[in-house]
Amino acid sequence: MDLDLLQATLAQRGQPAFRARQVWEWMARGASSYAQMTNLPEALRDDLERSVPLSSLTLEREALASDGTEKALFHTADARPLEAVLMRYRGGAKHSASVQTPSRGRRSLCLSSQSGCPLTCSFCATGSMAFGRNLTASEILDQALHFKRRESSARHPASPSESQGAVPAPRIDHCVFMGMGEPLLNLDNVLAACERLPDIGIHPSSTTVSTVGWIPGIDRLAERDGPTIRLALSLHAPDDALRSELMPVNERYPLADVLDACRRWHAARRRRVYVEYLMLGGVNDHYEQAIALAALLAPRTAFKVNLIPYNPTDSSFEGSSRDAIDAFRSALEERGVPATVRLTRGRDIDAACGQLAAGAGAGARAASAAPAR
Ligand code: SAH
Repeated sequence: MDLDLLQATLAQRGQPAFRARQVWEWMARGASSYAQMTNLPEALRDDLERSVPLSSLTLEREALASDGTEKALFHTADARPLEAVLMRYRGGAKHSASVQTPSRGRRSLCLSSQSGCPLTCSFCATGSMAFGRNLTASEILDQALHFKRRESSARHPASPSESQGAVPAPRIDHCVFMGMGEPLLNLDNVLAACERLPDIGIHPSSTTVSTVGWIPGIDRLAERDGPTIRLALSLHAPDDALRSELMPVNERYPLADVLDACRRWHAARRRRVYVEYLMLGGVNDHYEQAIALAALLAPRTAFKVNLIPYNPTDSSFEGSSRDAIDAFRSALEERGVPATVRLTRGRDIDAACGQLAAGAGAGARAASAAPAR
């Protein structure tokens, strides 16, 4: 919901200031119509129904992966495409050692901060589509609200079984800004959205902003007042030459400077930085590169590595073999660097990391994508 439009509309109608809060609280709980907002006067509900659309986004397409991951393709009012993903973890499964090993029935959102992305990382599908623009805070929140409504209607909150104490459905309680875009290039709107996520049930300590290493944004996150939001750094290469090849942004913000910024963030926030490292077969997965990576990540208490199996895109890269990933991980751990292998979700619907590219090509890739492990 366009919260600015809501405020302006309510003000125009001479409504008291608390009305906006009432509407928001209903939305945050997963309301799917004004009719449900029973503490609002009926005439006002009818009025809002006509003047403030429930979402600033239009749902264009949805896809459900075999592992329960759900992707939604939206467009904004000015026809910019964007995607968001809900990952449903059933819990209890024995996955390979991973920080991402889900607690029972966790639900995690992957949100977009921009339509497209101005950065051109060579392995990422989003980077190959045209950059649109920054998303507003409301457009970011509307991605979350879409899935909140979906989950609320699926579990019929008012159903007798639930009120009689049946096991409640899992809540959406994690969020990562790992969809389209570079969140630190749209930090004001991302932070404004983060301020409201707790109302939906997602706390700052369960919210992660992922960056290519945009230093001014990292420093702002270190220095800002307010609760700590988790930081993830997309590193992907242990030296400047290779990193610049994979991620042109490295020319502007080289590795050593980015890692210094991460150390400043760690010193201010006392949390580990999650280092994301995409495993590209024969490119960045050699033993020597694991050793070089380990040497970069000092102090050990400041970093934790997440090795990411590569998901197929239109790029020419291939994913590392399972053995190569395991060997890389062992080499890091032997040097005292905590490292885990990320679970891959939603691969069969192009919803996995780096596969979020709206428009032409997305469907074609779905047909050729490797099955999820
Ligand atoms: N721009 C931010 C936010 C996007 S996050 C950032 O880069 O961190 C998307 C994550 O998925 C990043 O870690 C990115 O490097 C990773 N990724 C991109 N393409 C991928 C692919 N094809 N397979 C797996 N991960 C990929």
